[in-house]
Amino acid sequence: MIYFDNSATTKPYKEVVELVARLMSEEFGNSSSLHALGIRAERILENTRRTLAETIKAQPEEIVFTSGGTESINMALKGTAEAFKRTGKHIISSPVEHDAAQESLNALSAIGYEVEYLSVDEFGRISLDELKAKIRDDTILVNIMAVNNELGTIEPVVEASHIIKSRNKKTLFHVDAVQAYGKIPINVRELEADYISFSSHKIHGPKGVGMLFMRKGARLHPIISGGGHERNLRSGTVNVPGIAGFGLAASMKFERMEQDSKTCGKIRELLMERLTASLGPMLRVNSPEDGVDNILNISLKGVQSETVLHFLEMKEIYVSSGSACHSRKNTVSRVLKAIGLSPEWAKGAIRLSFSGDNTEHEAIICSEAISEIMGTVQKM
Ligand code: PLP
Repeated sequence: MIYFDNSATTKPYKEVVELVARLMSEEFGNSSSLHALGIRAERILENTRRTLAETIKAQPEEIVFTSGGTESINMALKGTAEAFKRTGKHIISSPVEHDAAQESLNALSAIGYEVEYLSVDEFGRISLDELKAKIRDDTILVNIMAVNNELGTIEPVVEASHIIKSRNKKTLFHVDAVQAYGKIPINVRELEADYISFSSHKIHGPKGVGMLFMRKGARLHPIISGGGHERNLRSGTVNVPGIAGFGLAASMKFERMEQDSKTCGKIRELLMERLTASLGPMLRVNSPEDGVDNILNISLKGVQSETVLHFLEMKEIYVSSGSACHSRKNTVSRVLKAIGLSPEWAKGAIRLSFSGDNTEHEAIICSEAISEIMGTVQKM
């Protein structure tokens, strides 16, 4: 099997699976309970909070655990909109965000918030000048992702954060770092964001676990009501084994970040070289050259991406059409539309995404399989 769909999700590290399984049977206490088992669970939770905070140079008190990227993003966007509705109702976002952000913004739009979108270039990159010009006195929030999940484009979020804070100190900034974490460095002392969303399953951790960085002093209105387990900001019995698994996955991923990036970079390069040579004008590379090493989005001429996906699947090669979140919707990706890709190219778009577990040999097999499929389709 060749798994080239690591941006949809990653295979958990063996050590992570073992740790989560052990904690589920041995340390099943509720971290809010006052007895010894609860206190032990709380200790695991707080140690993990410290470990994860360190990876982004944050303070442990600035980390709120959630059920994943989607919840963190909903919490940051809807929670700040509600908390600051008296200050203003103007929100700025990019048009290439993940559905978790886009649908949250649509929900806010429907209840009277004014959401304005920045234009983007051919790779989905926002314009900083336009951002600067659009910030107003009543702009309560700016939302921009750090790495695009479909294209791998790295957005200039550090520069954006400085612009936002210099234009209006009261404007809050949320960054979706789900695809950036463990791939490029994130340092909250450089990135002046107020909220940053993270997810565990993109870095070989368990699914259904995530975190929201909330800068000291930042506020939001909780979107889930209950016992207030996480600093009264997020309720629900805390998933201590899953969170511990996230912590271990992050430690392991950060240790290999450089090596993984080199491995993925070579795979990406090899695929591009081989596909360009064999497909020529039938191929279009949609990802920017200076994007993250682990994502390569390409378009194949004259084919439907689903056809290629299923041909590859028969050879046990797993890739994605557009992004995983769109792949069952059968619509042209909103992101590919935003970058101005023609419908002809957009319908044949596939995303190949790698991890440190992949090899150059797999890249060769995959490129040969794609070339073979294109040959067959052309004959048909
Ligand atoms: N944001 C981005 C950029 C993503 O790629 C994803 C997942 O694909 C999410 C948010 C959602 O994260 P989760 O799957 O943890 O809810």
